[in-house]
Amino acid sequence: MAKYIFITGGVVSSLGKGITAASIGRLLINRGLNIRMLKMDPYLNVDPGTMSPYQHGEVYVTDDGAETDLDLGHYERFTGQPTSSRSNFTAGRIYWDVLRRERKGEYLGHTIQMIPHITDAIIASIRAVAEEGPDVVIAEIGGTVGDIEGLTFLEAIRQIGLEEGRENVMYVHMTYVPYLKAAGEVKTKPSQQSVAKLREIGIIPDALICRSEVPLEDDVRRKMSLFCNVPYESVIEELDVQHTIYEVPLVLSEQGLDEIIMVHFRMVRPPPKMLPWREMVETIKHPRGSIRIGVVGKYAELQDAYKSLYEAISHGGIAHQIHVEIIKISAEDIESGRARDALADVSGILVPGGFGQRGTEGKVEAIRYARENRIPFLGICLGLQCAVIEFARNACGLEGAHSTELDPKTPYPVVCLMEEQEKVVDLGATMRLGAWPCRIKPDTQSHRAYGALLISERHRHRYEVNNAYREQFAAGGLIISGQSPDGHLVEMVELADHPWFVAVQFHPELKSQPNNPHPLFRDFIGAAALHDGII
Ligand code: GLN
Repeated sequence: MAKYIFITGGVVSSLGKGITAASIGRLLINRGLNIRMLKMDPYLNVDPGTMSPYQHGEVYVTDDGAETDLDLGHYERFTGQPTSSRSNFTAGRIYWDVLRRERKGEYLGHTIQMIPHITDAIIASIRAVAEEGPDVVIAEIGGTVGDIEGLTFLEAIRQIGLEEGRENVMYVHMTYVPYLKAAGEVKTKPSQQSVAKLREIGIIPDALICRSEVPLEDDVRRKMSLFCNVPYESVIEELDVQHTIYEVPLVLSEQGLDEIIMVHFRMVRPPPKMLPWREMVETIKHPRGSIRIGVVGKYAELQDAYKSLYEAISHGGIAHQIHVEIIKISAEDIESGRARDALADVSGILVPGGFGQRGTEGKVEAIRYARENRIPFLGICLGLQCAVIEFARNACGLEGAHSTELDPKTPYPVVCLMEEQEKVVDLGATMRLGAWPCRIKPDTQSHRAYGALLISERHRHRYEVNNAYREQFAAGGLIISGQSPDGHLVEMVELADHPWFVAVQFHPELKSQPNNPHPLFRDFIGAAALHDGII
């Protein structure tokens, strides 16, 4: 029988619940437990696949092709365990399923209500994860306690507590303890109120994790304990970490959170084996040098839009014990000329995935700069498509070459819609999604990176390199270094005459982990460090 840890958030959003949940996952794995992570999102979109990066940040894709919340990226990076379509669901998905069943008459004439029909559907989706057989399910509820759309989720996890017995279910509430400069003290009242809201629903937290910018004095902890009805030792402080988010498991373990969990579940396990993780954090804290990588994207100002990408770049640095400073360059600023100097100031250029025309010409220009100046380059998804467009235009003389997504009237459609995409009408969950195999060409940069000839990577795209141009590309010196096993789809390209220039149709950033950096990021950062003379 699986135990459950439910993580809720109070006071404000953006507390780093996902990182905390993922850190708890890492601690329990290091205690020898088998875990599953789950994120529940109370919003009404069926999944985040159609949401704008401005609204939602990155869409994280699982091996089985689900478009999910970016917290699943934290889960995979911290725990090393793949997530799946079961690991994330929204209120929209629950309503959708319930209403479809209602239309089929499956409720036999009953009135369909929030309780029990919606709550039962939520409970069933949580239990589906427990049925995979882990020791512990760690389930995070998105949003903040007090949100109207979160109520059914809270009711569902309260009911699970009743059904399973309190010793099998643990409620962890994350809260914010603000420091008021004018008063010169931290304030516990917002936390008290958010716990009071939880208690109204019938949930009594077993532990509080307090995000704070200043250390909590003993009297503050006592106050939190007393007023929030949580044992003193279960009031855990989570200060902003100094160097890296990967310190969070260490911070929580030092305060005994994993032991508190063991005691609550009446489990006996040896202390967590933290040494390899600690060594990895030490590597991050003590780099032997630093390089600058330019990321030329559409959302330079948005931290969350390229979450996994920024993490994967830093993992590439860990592999060489170097710090990577990420320079976010807006593709539109390259077009207007404002950011041309920025390109000259980096040791490697990366063009990430994306949709739509805005910024394309800037991306193409950045790629041309990398190609002509022999700067290490990694292109991802739209980044590959832009690299092919750039090569077609400037190395093969195909003026006006483009992707039909971005210029339907282009004379040279070097990137075009995949055949099976031509009939697609709905936008949600209809791209080429999830893990697909890729066959690598021997003796290429791609082969040297992976050290394997058959790999599997995750995808999220509709457009593809147009096979009609393959011969012209080859004649110009563009190597197709990876393709689908049937040879129909171009998955990886690289330049014959360049120190390191690789572009991929898939998203390698989704599979990189700090203690297991992705080979493409490792080699890209390695090439950039070499270019910079650091290694
Ligand atoms: N817009 C491109 C496509 O749909 C690239 C997608 C991406 O970068 N994820 O093929």
